[in-house]
Amino acid sequence: MIIVLKPGTSEPDILKVEEAAKKFGYKPRLIRGVERTVIACIGDERTHHTLESLIVLPQVESITPIQKKYKLVSREYQERDTVLRIGDLKIGGGTFHVAAGPCSVESKAQIIETARFVKQFGGTLLRGGAYKPRTSPYDFQGLGREGLELLREAKAATGLPIVTEVMSPQDVELVAGVADVLQIGTRNAQNVPLLIASAASGKIILLKRGMSCFVDEWLLAAEYICAHGNNRVILCERGIRTFETACRNTLDLSAVALAKKESHLPVFVDPSHAAGRHDMVIPLARAAVAVGADGLLVEVHPDPAVALSDGGQQLKPKQFGQLMAELRPLAQVMGKTMGNE
Ligand code: PEP
Ligand code: MN
Repeated sequence: MIIVLKPGTSEPDILKVEEAAKKFGYKPRLIRGVERTVIACIGDERTHHTLESLIVLPQVESITPIQKKYKLVSREYQERDTVLRIGDLKIGGGTFHVAAGPCSVESKAQIIETARFVKQFGGTLLRGGAYKPRTSPYDFQGLGREGLELLREAKAATGLPIVTEVMSPQDVELVAGVADVLQIGTRNAQNVPLLIASAASGKIILLKRGMSCFVDEWLLAAEYICAHGNNRVILCERGIRTFETACRNTLDLSAVALAKKESHLPVFVDPSHAAGRHDMVIPLARAAVAVGADGLLVEVHPDPAVALSDGGQQLKPKQFGQLMAELRPLAQVMGKTMGNE
């Protein structure tokens, strides 16, 4: 922490600030300039008091933290890419995986048919929501337990690992009984009890970025999971709220590039929720590969026109085939191995 004092601060007032910093466990070092005095406070800002409250002292002009708040998720802490294993899949560290499936699990026929075409075209994980965090309470809320059972059957039929959302700490055990990857959605991205309970499951957590989260808030949410003993996290950018309304959200590719630079964790992109429209999904997916993402989370449906949620943004089987065919050479150019190829 760097504390800048106001010009002309008296010696007793400088001492008061030094004493306050010491009380919080910092070692203050005085730097006297021609006009101003600065106090560099040495100590771990993550484990000590932040000192930011000293701004209330009349002799203090500004306080600037110099350490980042996250640690375990950072490249400074671990330089090499984290590689997560699910069975024989390796996620991160030079692979590109596509997790695909419907927004919601709707019926046995729907999820089994989807799982089959996802696998056929080279998807390596099956997504599908059993518990759905819908904006309106009058919209389809998901099949709940029944949806989980259908996901279990789809996994048994195809061998595809399951990515599915958990919405509350009470459901973690139940959902983790079926899921290989627990998805935490944008609306819950900073739900601390859910982050902690999900971490305790020991499952891989796919953490969506909150729609209004800064990148450091997203990384700090991931830090919660790691700090609670689970470093198996996939970050997922899914579009943020901006002034632009032409698409459902704005896909923040800068955040993907930044997350890759700042963190060793794999980063996925969800072009479906970013775009909110099926005809934008393939272009955004191409961009995701080019910016350095490690995978995609994409919504697909055997017949999007009859989907119970997010119908307008789901790809038909043929479009999904086209997406996969287009991704393959792009992944190669980026030096990535596609799925398990
Ligand atoms: C979803 O993946 O279907 C979903 C609800 O996503 P998000 O949390 O990004 O809105
Ligand atoms: Mn959806």
